[in-house]
Amino acid sequence: MNKKKNIVTNPNLAEYCEKFANLNISNSSKKGKAPYKPVLLLSVIDLINQGVIKENQILVSDDLLDTFKKYWKVLSPNYKGGLHYPFFHLQNEGFWNLKLKPDFNGLQPKSTNKLKQAVEYATLDHELFDLIKNPHHRQELIDTLISVWFATSQKQLEDILDVNRSLNDASLEESDINIEDENLSPKFNWSKSLVRSAFFRKAVVHNYDYKCVFCQLKVTRSITQRIVDGAHIKPFAMFYDNSINNGISLCKNHHWAFDLGVFTITDQYKIMITDDLSEESPNNRPMQDFNGESILLPKSAQYFPSQAALKWHRENVFRK
Ligand SMILES: [Zn+2]
Repeated sequence: MNKKKNIVTNPNLAEYCEKFANLNISNSSKKGKAPYKPVLLLSVIDLINQGVIKENQILVSDDLLDTFKKYWKVLSPNYKGGLHYPFFHLQNEGFWNLKLKPDFNGLQPKSTNKLKQAVEYATLDHELFDLIKNPHHRQELIDTLISVWFATSQKQLEDILDVNRSLNDASLEESDINIEDENLSPKFNWSKSLVRSAFFRKAVVHNYDYKCVFCQLKVTRSITQRIVDGAHIKPFAMFYDNSINNGISLCKNHHWAFDLGVFTITDQYKIMITDDLSEESPNNRPMQDFNGESILLPKSAQYFPSQAALKWHRENVFRK
């Protein structure tokens, strides 16, 4: 009996995370690993998120070149980078397919211009493209790329903070221009960058050893962790401030409570709970019980939450 082997399982999120975590990255002898492919994927996901890339036909466009260059400058400043390299070689990973021009000579393009002459466009597996269009799934894919390729547990906090700082600065420099341009053309916008917010969260939770500063809950997973959030003290949507001192790490419950002003933090770094709260918590310690206790603080005072930001939260968010 001829048993035809055509069981093609629909690759799910876990499988693509696995593929993203196991990209074949060139090891350029002395220099170590240059993360061309992860930077290209981060750029593409971010452009899809911002609506600059709308269809599953990824052109060698100025938007892509520009975005790749910006990320490369921050994420891999010690290497020379060119889009032509990963755009062509990502096809070896199995989910990135190239539509080549009919007169393509078969040689690996050595420059961006040569790449444009060789390739019409690239497409992602349609399952992957659908995953990226889903806000939760694309976040997971980005977190995977960053955890594996840019901020592994071996990396020092300083490295993550450097990247976070550079992304914050780049974004502040551009924020004036982008706000005016927004309605004119769908260009990549730093302040909406998913990679930037992923690095902020990473820096903040790392700064607090992956624990909630309120209840000290800590849950970690092998590749990404999701229980503890890097939360903004002054809201990002108002201040665009992704500096480490504007962040504290909070579990989902306490993030929600902090954003709603159920509790705030004093200038002595103590928890202050609103009187305007009625809670029943038969199995956990109620929030009121934490009133007056110190929050968890980072080891180094330079990374403590900013006094000005905490004051702003007490005056504008806290339910007095
Ligand atoms: Zn908590």
